[in-house]
Amino acid sequence: MALYRDEGVVLRTYKLGEADRIVVLFTRGRGKIRAVAKGVRRTKSKFGSRLEPGTIVQLQLYEGRNLDIITQAERVVAFTRLRSDLELYGRTSVVLEMVDATVVEAEADPALYKLLAGALNELERSGNPLVVAAFAAKFLALEGVQPRLDACVRCGAGDQLEGIQLGEGGAVCVRCPPTGEPLSADVRRAFALVLDGQVRHVLDATSPEVALELETLVSRLIEQHIERRLKSSAVLYQQMHN
Ligand SMILES: [Zn+2]
Repeated sequence: MALYRDEGVVLRTYKLGEADRIVVLFTRGRGKIRAVAKGVRRTKSKFGSRLEPGTIVQLQLYEGRNLDIITQAERVVAFTRLRSDLELYGRTSVVLEMVDATVVEAEADPALYKLLAGALNELERSGNPLVVAAFAAKFLALEGVQPRLDACVRCGAGDQLEGIQLGEGGAVCVRCPPTGEPLSADVRRAFALVLDGQVRHVLDATSPEVALELETLVSRLIEQHIERRLKSSAVLYQQMHN
């Protein structure tokens, strides 16, 4: 059996048999993989706690016939802040689930890995939940989900944008009612900065109100994206069985 090393973010784990756990990881070198951590559910396990969702680990694995087997796992960052803040942990979990549900197995994506690991590190540094929303917005944009916020989706005007209709793909101006949910100029600016990679700037300059509005917008985008994926996989399922 071949032995290899890689670094990865733990996306999710689930039970296998009496004492083992399957760990779903997004790795730098091999993309999303599923690996077995043997004996982790025993209290004396040496790496059980290192394989919690949201942790970045250095791994040594054996290539198995079906699933690879983790033989070593060392935490790269301790992530004490993430682990002690339940709300932050919950938000992070949603984003990890989204990555898990969207990324194809065994397809390396170094750019996405850098983005995800960067977000987790920034989250540990600042404890700012906007980091999660910023990551999600960038991830969704890579997936092709990006609302148009610089012009009205109905008439194309670039001014007096007052609301957002996500079903139509973006902002709506006052001349084209109904304008849907309110959309502030600050959020439009913050969203554009996030997509432009200026996350630090957004973290430093955003007021709590705008942060909340941005988070709400992003979580609705996540919902919409997941719903669409579920629908398309349901259609695929029907096609396969008809
Ligand atoms: Zn309009």
